[in-house]
Amino acid sequence: MLAIRAARLFDGRTVTRDPVVLVDAGRIVEKGSPAEVLDLGDATLLPGLVDAHTHLALDASDDPVGRVVAASDDELLDSMRAAARTALAAGITTVRDLGDRGYLSLVLRDELARDPMAGPQVLAAGPPITTSGGHCWFLGGEADGVEGIRAAVRERAERGVDVIKIMATGGELTPGSLADTAQYGPDELRAAVDEAHRHGLPVTAHAHAAGTIVDAVAAGVDTIEHCSYATDEVIGVLRQAGTVVSVTVGADPRFPYPPRLVTLLVEYFQMVARLREAGVPVVCGSDAGIREAKPHGVLPYGVAALVERAGFSPAEALRAATSLAADACGVGDRKGRIAPGYDADLLAVRGDPLTDITALTRVSAVMRTGRLLRSP
Ligand SMILES: [Zn+2]
Repeated sequence: MLAIRAARLFDGRTVTRDPVVLVDAGRIVEKGSPAEVLDLGDATLLPGLVDAHTHLALDASDDPVGRVVAASDDELLDSMRAAARTALAAGITTVRDLGDRGYLSLVLRDELARDPMAGPQVLAAGPPITTSGGHCWFLGGEADGVEGIRAAVRERAERGVDVIKIMATGGELTPGSLADTAQYGPDELRAAVDEAHRHGLPVTAHAHAAGTIVDAVAAGVDTIEHCSYATDEVIGVLRQAGTVVSVTVGADPRFPYPPRLVTLLVEYFQMVARLREAGVPVVCGSDAGIREAKPHGVLPYGVAALVERAGFSPAEALRAATSLAADACGVGDRKGRIAPGYDADLLAVRGDPLTDITALTRVSAVMRTGRLLRSP
């Protein structure tokens, strides 16, 4: 048994008084007599971060789409392994992969389950369900109409995915696809939810357009990705339904955005601020991999952006990337908190993110299943 001591401890919900954590056999335990003490010094100990939206198959290069299409399965898996290592080194101990090619994220998930020090725990969607020629069609998840969608969900359930991802609207990444335009209507979204829930799987809908966000909520999806063009009326619908919104945040400041996206982002963070004010549950997703400014491991910048640009308190932003994100991803009983019985997936950062959120990018130690990846 190991005792970890830090200057401060955020347990996923709040700052606790006792900054000591006991770890045994990969889990956090309530009591016992530790054989060893690890003193992290002037660091803050937190649960490992949970990224609710990544794409391990996209390599955050200047042409991630070209590369994911051209790579062989072996090449793609190697690149995904590298992405997983990068995420873990940044303190991200759980990722929800919302779009791969050829179900390779499931292969990686199973590899990492056997060798957890090589990456975060992966929750995998497989290829996202999209219309023929629709957003991210090149990942191989095309399905049309109610029956096509039901078959696509059944195929994913048989493959053993953890979540169903459906592209309810178009998106930025795909030429010819429009983010503000619906791909699926209410009947198709209801079919996706019905079939997924029948198989015990949650559904997350990629939805930018206001009307489609409302359709997706009415269909009963479990989470909404992006939620870009939510008006006050839509925010009212989300609040009433209690639907969790996975907001897309996090950019590495070394890679400036094109001016058009800078303008869009200003509006986006205003929308995220309104979600928070309305009391809509918000979790952090980075969409890591889709562009150079979003390398795997970018999530801490997204947490900081919630504070700097959307009026979140540091504790609120940290919850959005720990306990709330774990709940939204269906692993809230094992991830996202420092509490007895939880997996010993931990992050220590230099300084105090509760007073200076940028401390979250200053990693001092990462622990996965009770073992140190990176020593303080
Ligand atoms: Zn995405």
